[in-house]
Amino acid sequence: PAATAREALARLVRDVPDFPEPGVLFKDITPLLADHAGLRAVVDGLAAAGRDAEGRPVVDAVVGLEARGFVLAAPVALALGVGFVPVRKAGKLPGETHEVAYALEYGEAVLQVHRDAVAPGARVLVVDDVLATGGTLAAARALVEACGAHVHAASLLMEISALPGRAALGDLPLHVLTTV
Ligand code: AMP
Repeated sequence: PAATAREALARLVRDVPDFPEPGVLFKDITPLLADHAGLRAVVDGLAAAGRDAEGRPVVDAVVGLEARGFVLAAPVALALGVGFVPVRKAGKLPGETHEVAYALEYGEAVLQVHRDAVAPGARVLVVDDVLATGGTLAAARALVEACGAHVHAASLLMEISALPGRAALGDLPLHVLTTV
């Protein structure tokens, strides 16, 4: 039988303690990406947040967050019949960008999007792998809004419930395939 997304995540995401630094339990999705049925199941699950109750796509674009979000967001965009837009770390996009700086546990990070990548008024689905503190997703939302567009929902593989990510995102509709 086809894998359910939740079952695939439980079986195929590898916990790596103390990576990339002590105290972090890293969620390694590479075994999931390597498994066709698992990949199919999670892409379908992520795309569901971009459909209405009848299954019709209701978004105009899918935004993926560097780097693991890219791998998931592009097939989600194809499934919904729309295009893919990358949100990247500073200095990677060649065109005119909007940018947002946000706090990390140690220091600061900057995310950028091409100014012309998302049309004003567009409804956007944001896709990433893991929700931890919520800082990355909040920055992505700010970038979409800087383009004059609207985040319809954010779709993620995993929410780490011990961290306050959800609370940091206010009224943003969150669609998570599993909570760990
Ligand atoms: P945050 O901004 O704290 O919500 O962190 C989310 C971003 O960091 C996502 O793009 C994730 O890919 C990555 N991330 C944070 N924590 C983890 C973790 N425990 N395992 C894997 N990726 C993580």
